[in-house]
Amino acid sequence: MNSMLSATNQNWKMNVFYISLGMGAFLMFGGRYFGDLFSIAHPAYINIAGVLIGLISFFVACVSIKCPDCKDKWFWRAVSKSKSGDWLFWLKSQISGPACKQGANNGT
Ligand SMILES: [Zn+2]
Repeated sequence: MNSMLSATNQNWKMNVFYISLGMGAFLMFGGRYFGDLFSIAHPAYINIAGVLIGLISFFVACVSIKCPDCKDKWFWRAVSKSKSGDWLFWLKSQISGPACKQGANNGT
């Protein structure tokens, strides 16, 4: 039994999201360190860049991870509809599109 993400070949988008989010966090928390290391005058810009990368990767995931049939935005649905912190588990455990029940079964 495949998840809807792997059935619709969208797992790579989740991986891109993880990596870019990790890079953003890396810059966000390492800004001062890099500022000292490279004698950057305004290390706060590195922190801001990290925050921006995190926000952009989140936004891209929201608009790009969706149902190929009905265009239901799965990532956004998971983040906005899940009450507790289990949105990631919810997203990865769905086997068909929550809106139209398509996607995982017909392989489109
Ligand atoms: Zn759908």
